[in-house]
Amino acid sequence: MKFFYFGLLFAALSAFTNFAQASAEDYCDSLSRLSCSPGELNDGTGVALSERDYQAKVDSVSEKLMPAYESAFLKMLQESDTESQVVRALAIKAAQQNASSDCNSQDQKDQKNCNERVASMVASNAVKRIFLVSASQGAPIDLPGDGNYDELRANALYWKSLSEANTQSLTVVSEKELDQKIRDVITPNVKEILIEKVTNSVSNVVLRDTLVKKIQDVRYLGNNYSFLNKNMAPTMDGLMVGSENYSPDQNAFIFGNGFLFKSSSEFMMVYFVAHEIAHSMDPCNIGASKDFPFEYDYQSVLKVEDLEKQNPFSNVISCLRTEQSVGAKYRKYDDFLSFKKSMEDAGLPVGNNPFCIHDQITESFADWMAGEVLPEYVVRHFSALSQSQRLNGYANTTRLMCKAIAPQNGYDDHPDTQARLERILMANPKSRELVGCGPPRNDLHYCSMGTNCTGTRLPATPETGAY
Ligand SMILES: [Zn+2]
Repeated sequence: MKFFYFGLLFAALSAFTNFAQASAEDYCDSLSRLSCSPGELNDGTGVALSERDYQAKVDSVSEKLMPAYESAFLKMLQESDTESQVVRALAIKAAQQNASSDCNSQDQKDQKNCNERVASMVASNAVKRIFLVSASQGAPIDLPGDGNYDELRANALYWKSLSEANTQSLTVVSEKELDQKIRDVITPNVKEILIEKVTNSVSNVVLRDTLVKKIQDVRYLGNNYSFLNKNMAPTMDGLMVGSENYSPDQNAFIFGNGFLFKSSSEFMMVYFVAHEIAHSMDPCNIGASKDFPFEYDYQSVLKVEDLEKQNPFSNVISCLRTEQSVGAKYRKYDDFLSFKKSMEDAGLPVGNNPFCIHDQITESFADWMAGEVLPEYVVRHFSALSQSQRLNGYANTTRLMCKAIAPQNGYDDHPDTQARLERILMANPKSRELVGCGPPRNDLHYCSMGTNCTGTRLPATPETGAY
């Protein structure tokens, strides 16, 4: 028995010692362990909340929001016209109060009790859903069904009351200062580095100047998704989306407030701002517009590889395809052509560019470019930070995506979060040096403009359900 206890104590002590001495090297090949660790991860520019701290923040903000929702719904329940009676019945049903005697009574005092209780329950459901949007990480409209509340939510009067409460509450959840920081500081600084990168990398002068101009022109649309999605009312739903998005039509990007609500890390903001702006020249968008000096020549193309060779970032793209990098998945060109034909036959043309149709190369390219920008940004703007703060900063870039919900069909345009962090961002030697790590393992490629990569290309894998 004694031996057993001694063994346990020893194990506990050594675990503690390991923790206490944890250094950069422990995470050099597996930064996602630090990225997804519990507790506080302060990187000197901000903190990305752990799941527990995030929950505490949600609870306290929910409490602040409740009165506005309760009073909007109470007002709705007190009206006496026919339409209001309909929405009252739906609200009572949603709150499962149909059997309550006060809700069935004609007595004014009873009705008042019933209305107050139902208003509070409906408000609590509405507030809960605001943060469900934030937790859903990018699926603003596709929230799970919610029994009787679905019927209530389809009612126009309910929607009107909800919108009123949302409008009043925007300022409580909107991260105004971080939004301002992205607009005034991070976006211009990131653009400056991106422009230098493109100027040094693209040899064709006309194309280079066009790309530089395009980067200069990218606009930041703010932190509320309703600005980008015209079908969405400027409500809380649009404000709590935890995702970023680049719109090629508008040459503009949005930075979901849902992310800012969970993280104030500038490493995270720099990483995603660079990622979104990089989408303006990803392998899909670079060939997207007619008046652009770069267009793929589809005439003699037999394989996806033939198109990749035409791209000005061809070395990087072919490298990102390999097993030794992130292994960005795609479809065989023949498969794409038959898909394209079936879409055209159905009257839904998809264009000629296979990179635009669920090819992971667009997201991998944007990640790679963000991985080029971040170390340069750290050198220029975070020079006062310690090495361990920088390590935390790198871990904070993808910390919010540790609980990313797996897509139902098992495929996503983004490579797996761990691979994005460890096989793209942490493959960059400059980044490794900044956080105190040596060169990457031999089996891991750093993809660069100047190196023609000779890694093993993963076979094109048809992804069921990706189209
Ligand atoms: Zn992206």
